[in-house]
Amino acid sequence: MLNLHRAEFIRSAVKPADFPHDGLPQIVFAGKSNVGKSSTINKLLGRKNFARVGNQPGKTIHINFFQIDEKAYFVDLPGYGYAKVSKAERDRWGKLMDLYFASDLITLGIQIVDMRHKPTQDDQTMAHWFLSTGMPFLVIANKLDKVKKSEREGNLAVIRETLRLPEDVPVIAFSAEKGDGRETVLEIIQAAACPAEPEE
Ligand code: GDP
Repeated sequence: MLNLHRAEFIRSAVKPADFPHDGLPQIVFAGKSNVGKSSTINKLLGRKNFARVGNQPGKTIHINFFQIDEKAYFVDLPGYGYAKVSKAERDRWGKLMDLYFASDLITLGIQIVDMRHKPTQDDQTMAHWFLSTGMPFLVIANKLDKVKKSEREGNLAVIRETLRLPEDVPVIAFSAEKGDGRETVLEIIQAAACPAEPEE
């Protein structure tokens, strides 16, 4: 089992030589700016201010690597889809993503979308990239606490349909604010990060 209390920032990567190549599983988090990616990582780790919440959108074109329990990495991809980003910055983002996805380092892809809305074009592109790797993939539908009970099922169906997810890709209703969905996501992360360990 991963001890989530043992989490440590390793580095911000801007080029492939910065990516860890030590064979540890890499659990990758992607999402558009402001979707709650930092909040989700913090909630999963049971921390308040570990991954920075409220990062200025578009300012950070690097990939953050956090080592968990010396057994796996949480990989925080730079947010996308922020309107006020220059073409140069968007190009840098695309190039870094190309390099990381081509590196074959991804163990489990986790894409965070906003449960209130239909996924954007950028969300669709990102989902396609993850699906193309052939690695295990799951979608977190965040901000569950902001969606009326009566709309939840329908919104999840729209997300699944818009991202063209195969049946075996889970879409997990989640609230980084309240903690809903946390246990389900952690089980999948544990299984991906420590596959060979027998149950205790
Ligand atoms: P990031 O840019 O994707 O890292 O997003 P942040 O984690 O900085 O969150 C963006 C904003 O959304 C912050 O004001 C968070 O408090 C808020 N937020 C994130 N997750 C949730 C959630 O599940 N529910 C609610 N109500 N707000 C959330």
